[in-house]
Amino acid sequence: MDVFIIGAGTASTAAALAAKARGASVAIAEEWLAGGLCETRGCKPTKMILRSARAARDVRDAARFGVHAREPAIEFAEVMARARDAAAKRSDDHAAWLGEDFTYMKGTATVVRPGVVRVGEDEVGYKSLVLATGSTPFVPDTPGLAETPHRTSDTIWSITERPERVVILGGGAISTEFATFFEAMGTRVTILERSGRLLAREDDETCRALAAALAARGIGFRYEVGVQRLEPGDDGSCRITVGRGDEAPETFDADLLLVATGRRPKVDGLGLDVLGVEVTPRGIATDERAATNAEGVYAAGDVAGRWQLTDVAYHEGWVAGTNAAGGDATIDERVVPRALFTYPELASVGLTEAEARERSGDTLLVGRAPLARVGKAQVDGETEGFGKLLASGDGEILGAHLIGGPAAELIQIVAMAMTCGASLDQLKHYIAIHPTFAEWVNIMALRAE
Ligand SMILES: Cc1cc2nc3c(=O)[nH]c(=O)nc-3n(C[C@H](O)[C@H](O)[C@H](O)COP(=O)(O)OP(=O)(O)OC[C@H]3O[C@@H](n4cnc5c(N)ncnc54)[C@H](O)[C@@H]3O)c2cc1C
Repeated sequence: MDVFIIGAGTASTAAALAAKARGASVAIAEEWLAGGLCETRGCKPTKMILRSARAARDVRDAARFGVHAREPAIEFAEVMARARDAAAKRSDDHAAWLGEDFTYMKGTATVVRPGVVRVGEDEVGYKSLVLATGSTPFVPDTPGLAETPHRTSDTIWSITERPERVVILGGGAISTEFATFFEAMGTRVTILERSGRLLAREDDETCRALAAALAARGIGFRYEVGVQRLEPGDDGSCRITVGRGDEAPETFDADLLLVATGRRPKVDGLGLDVLGVEVTPRGIATDERAATNAEGVYAAGDVAGRWQLTDVAYHEGWVAGTNAAGGDATIDERVVPRALFTYPELASVGLTEAEARERSGDTLLVGRAPLARVGKAQVDGETEGFGKLLASGDGEILGAHLIGGPAAELIQIVAMAMTCGASLDQLKHYIAIHPTFAEWVNIMALRAE
C-alpha cells in the first residue's frame, strides 16, 4: 500500500482524497465509527440539537412578532434521536464510500514495525503513514469522579430523558454549546469553571459578554472553583460540592453531570514508540508539511494538537495526504476563523484585542459596532450583541470578534479579507446588500479609530 491512514475522521478523509488524487493506493483503518468525531459525536450532532433549541426559542419568542404560540411541547427523546439517527446514517454512508473508493479496514490499527501496520489479524505494508486518530475526552482524575455517574460529549448521545438539572464541569466550547441546548430544553444548567472566565484563549470582552448573555437566560456560573466532593445519587444523579478559596463550600445536585474539560490527542496503543515519533502534551509534533520526525510518517487533525477544529483537520489532512503521496504541500493556518454556536453566537478570527494591542500599541485601530446598528438586526429583532474589528495603524486587518446575529457566517467575510490581504479601507467601502447582517462588517470598519 502506498499510503496507510489510521482513523476515518475528517483529517483522514482529506488525506485519502489528496493521496488518491496523486494516484496513490490508500488503505484506511477505523476502530469505531467511520466519519469520526465531527460526523458522529461532535460538530454535526451538536448543531442538530442546537437547531432544536432554536426552534424552541423561536416558538417562545414568537409573540414579539405578533405571533402568539403556546409553550412548546418538547419531546426530548425525539430531539436526541434526530441527532443520533442522522449521525448513524452519515457514518454508514461514509463507511460505504470508503469501501468503494479505498481499502477500508474495520479495527484498531497498531504499527508493529516501521512499514507495517496490524489491524486485527491482518498485517499491511505501507510506504507512508498518516496518523489521523483524533482526540478523546479528557476526564480529570478528580477523587470520586470515576465512581460518580457522568457523561462526556462522546457518551451523552444515548440519553432519552430531559434532565431537570445539569451541571457541567468546564467552561469551554463544548460546555457552552451544551449549556445553550439544555437551557432551551427547559433544564436548569450550572457551569463550574476552574479559571476566572470562559474560553481562556479567546477575546476577553466578547467572552465576558457571552457569559453575561448566557447568565441572563438563567444559566448559572461558578468561576475559580474546584470540585471537593462527588456523591452518586439515585438514577444517575449526583451531588457535587465545590469550593473557592476560603469561602464556604457550595453544593449542587445534578440529574446529569457533563464533564467537558477538554480533549486529549489520541496516541495510546498506536505503536508510536516503534516508530520513534515525538509526542508532546499537545499532540504529535509535526512541521509545516504535517511531517513527524519519523521518515514517511505524517499526522493531521486533533492528534497533531494545533487546533481542535474540523476545518483545520481537513486542511492538515489534505497537506498530510499530499505529502504522503510524494507531493509538496504546506500548512497555512495564519487565518483560522472559529465560532461557538451558542445563543448568542460568538465568532472570532485573528488576534484578540489584548494581543493586537500588544502588537500595535497606541496605533491600534478598533472599530466597534453594536449589532443594534445593523438594519437587518433591527428587522429581525436580533439586536443583542456587538462586534469589533481590529486593524493596525496602516490598515492591516488583525482580527475581529463578533457576538450575536449570524456571527459564524459573518466572521468569514473578515477571514476572507485577511486571507486575501484586503485593507481596512477596502472593508469600509465594499458594497454590502441592504438590509443584511453583512453590513455589520462595513459599519465596524467605518468606525475603526
Ligand atoms: C461536542 C463537539 C462539538 C464540536 N463542534 C465543532 C464545530 O462546530 N466545528 C468544528 O470545526 N469543530 C468542532 N468540534 C471539533 C471537531 O469535531 C474535531 O476537531 C474534528 O472532528 C477532528 O477530526 P480528526 O480527523 O482529527 O479526528 P476524528 O474525526 O476524531 O477521527 C479520528 C478517528 O480515528 C479513529 N481511531 C483512533 N485511533 C485508532 C486506531 N488505533 N485504529 C483505528 N482507528 C482509530 C477514531 O475512532 C476516530 O474515528 C467539536 C468537537 C466536539 C467534541
